[in-house]
Amino acid sequence: MDYTLPLFLAHAIALEHEAAERYLELADMMEAHRNDEVASLFRDMVRYSRLHHDSIVERARGVELPVLHSWQYRWRQPPETGGDEAFDPALTAWDALRYARENEFRAQAFYTLAAAGAGTGTGDPEVQRLASEFAAEEAEHVQALDRWLARVPRPSVPWRIDPYHEA
Ligand code: ZN
Repeated sequence: MDYTLPLFLAHAIALEHEAAERYLELADMMEAHRNDEVASLFRDMVRYSRLHHDSIVERARGVELPVLHSWQYRWRQPPETGGDEAFDPALTAWDALRYARENEFRAQAFYTLAAAGAGTGTGDPEVQRLASEFAAEEAEHVQALDRWLARVPRPSVPWRIDPYHEA
């Protein structure tokens, strides 16, 4: 897809803002579960997301940004964890990591697609530059979460999310 710079920046700002909000929720939840390790990982992710958000806002200074629909950036939750409004407080660390991992992967996919679209020759080279950079960052987040998922015990009742076949 061919993103204009304003549309791309609006997406990136919304994605980072959303990530910070969700990680904050997840961190609080993990703290309530007395899982300080995963809570502090999520607090780090809040910090990264905010820093990234602020630097994109800075980059977008003076650019008139389009207004997006929430479905264009909102993290997806499976209905069994409370739908769109709230997490199930019983969410395990593994579930929380898996949920974050899927949404980091979606962000990575978005930036990769934006970079590819911008690289076709008709796109904005600035979009390509930023999108490639952001895609690499998101890939690191996905990898970090994968490492955590490998360490955290998987709950016996599997969490039923299938991001590729979501209704
Ligand atoms: Zn990320």
